[in-house]
Amino acid sequence: MSLMQTYRRQPVAFVEGRGALLFDSSGREYIDLLGGIAVASVGHAHPKIAAAIAEQSAKLIHTSNLFENPIQAALADKLAELSGGMSSFFCNSGAEAIECALKLARKWGSVNKSPDAIEIVATEGSFHGRTFGALAATGQPAKQEPFAPMLTGFRHVAFGDIDALSGVVGDKTAAVLLEPIQGESGVVVPPDGYLAEARELCDRHGALLILDEVQTGMGRTGKWFCYEHSGVAPDVVCLAKALAGGLPIGACLAAPSVAETFVPGDHGSTFGGGHVQSAAALAVIDVIESEGLCDRAAFLGERMAKALGALFDGCEVRGAGLLIGVDLGAPLAERLRAEALQRGVIINDPTPSVIRFAPPLVIEETEIDRALDVLQEVWDEIKPA
Ligand code: PLP
Repeated sequence: MSLMQTYRRQPVAFVEGRGALLFDSSGREYIDLLGGIAVASVGHAHPKIAAAIAEQSAKLIHTSNLFENPIQAALADKLAELSGGMSSFFCNSGAEAIECALKLARKWGSVNKSPDAIEIVATEGSFHGRTFGALAATGQPAKQEPFAPMLTGFRHVAFGDIDALSGVVGDKTAAVLLEPIQGESGVVVPPDGYLAEARELCDRHGALLILDEVQTGMGRTGKWFCYEHSGVAPDVVCLAKALAGGLPIGACLAAPSVAETFVPGDHGSTFGGGHVQSAAALAVIDVIESEGLCDRAAFLGERMAKALGALFDGCEVRGAGLLIGVDLGAPLAERLRAEALQRGVIINDPTPSVIRFAPPLVIEETEIDRALDVLQEVWDEIKPA
């Protein structure tokens, strides 16, 4: 085997896609309710994304960040317009967007607060990525233990518990880092008001609020950014996944007063915000806007959550927009996922008892209905008596 064995891969290889459909080499069709884990928001092989990538790659692919890049600048302007004026740093993944946010927060805390104000408060069950800083921030000891010791300066408290958060945020806190909804640990939604209270706590202690919108951003939950549902304005926002429609990109956005903490030489990336990724991201944003995909995610999400509630009667259905988790109440998620795949429907199982849905936002209502009929069939076979 010439590949490192870091994944438990499922026994299918897709060779083509269209919207929310994927096809294997025999031409068999699958309905994709996962979207490459919340990446293919504008659907597979969207003609506008394909054209943007083809046109830009035929003109120029790479020049490095030593030179002006007007396409990257246009993407930063567009993200500023969507985020209320934030400044962007571009990288290549979610983990890298988090690394950038962590470095920014540490420098900001030590310069603006006190030299030892470098702590990051994150939450249990969170997922922020696999690189060392992002892994230290991730609140999952099982993922950290094989790679100990972790980077120091991180504290973890229960997610959704404002009292636990207020117990640790203080003079040494540079930033609080939160996912508005925890995706990888099973689509865990905090109580109403949690983000607003976290914002208030950060303001009281002069700490930054960093929101990891790697999974929830770019329209997934029915708004450009999930934080918009709560009316909270974060200081820093991390994006990746859906931003360039499947090409590798990450972005760390920060309010200008925070962004100016970085000076030339503080951070960088060879590939970050390259011409092709930036052109793809601009095309993705254009498609989300022109096809009304934020509203579509909200509408379809509500419809789908209702249908899932009926299908998985008695199970908890949670999430926002088209990021939905169903807690089966028993460790049946892997079996459900495998049986569904055999019958042509793609979902995933972030935890033993939770299945997750993050379909392309362009999915047709009829495709959702067909997929749910399949899930109904499987669930009827495997659900506890
Ligand atoms: N943050 C969140 C909330 C994520 O869901 C993920 C990936 O699943 C990451 C960060 C890491 O992103 P990447 O895999 O692109 O490094």
